[in-house]
Amino acid sequence: MKGLPVLHNGARVDVGAGANLGADVGVAFDAELGPAPPWAHQPTVEWQVVGQCNYDCSYCIQSKKHRVGIPADAALRGAIAFFARLPTEAGPWEIKTTGGEPFSFRGFLDVVVNGLMDDTPHRLSTLTNLSAPPATLRRFAARTRGRLSVVSSSLHLEHTEVSAFLQRLDVLRDAVDDEVRIVVNCVLVPDRLAASRSSAESGRPR
Ligand code: SF4
Repeated sequence: MKGLPVLHNGARVDVGAGANLGADVGVAFDAELGPAPPWAHQPTVEWQVVGQCNYDCSYCIQSKKHRVGIPADAALRGAIAFFARLPTEAGPWEIKTTGGEPFSFRGFLDVVVNGLMDDTPHRLSTLTNLSAPPATLRRFAARTRGRLSVVSSSLHLEHTEVSAFLQRLDVLRDAVDDEVRIVVNCVLVPDRLAASRSSAESGRPR
């Protein structure tokens, strides 16, 4: 399964689950997708929940022209209703949300997170620039308690300082369950390499 609906306003849903098994070699293989790793397969949905971002990084792979759009609540609820019908014989799916910046619009917490928690059995992961205020991060952690898998947090030195990013990272780490994986990324901007190194050295190990 691949390439499911394109929602309007730049919100895209891709479903990548899948695989035909090459049991003789013990490796999952799909003719279209190629070989898969030999560990348990996690069915996932990658969901671009919003087009817009509150940052405008010079290296962004999404051009500014296309980094726009906020889906209507009805479109978001339609996607959630679809996810609620996904087969769960192998367990809940992991819904990976990205953007744009998911936290940059009200609908992420109010519709996407609430809807996934209330109306589906699935787990949630998200990719964020971690610019959301502490109160929002705490609300997110509380609402996803027991169902949050990975938060991939990206430091963008064109738009924030290391100290401010690390403060928000501490808030997030303290608010989520211990099992949640928090992955920290930093884009290496040529004239900010020293700051990038300092951020790597000053991060608090979990
Ligand atoms: S934070 Fe990410 S999505 Fe937003 S402008 Fe920067 S690179 Fe692009």
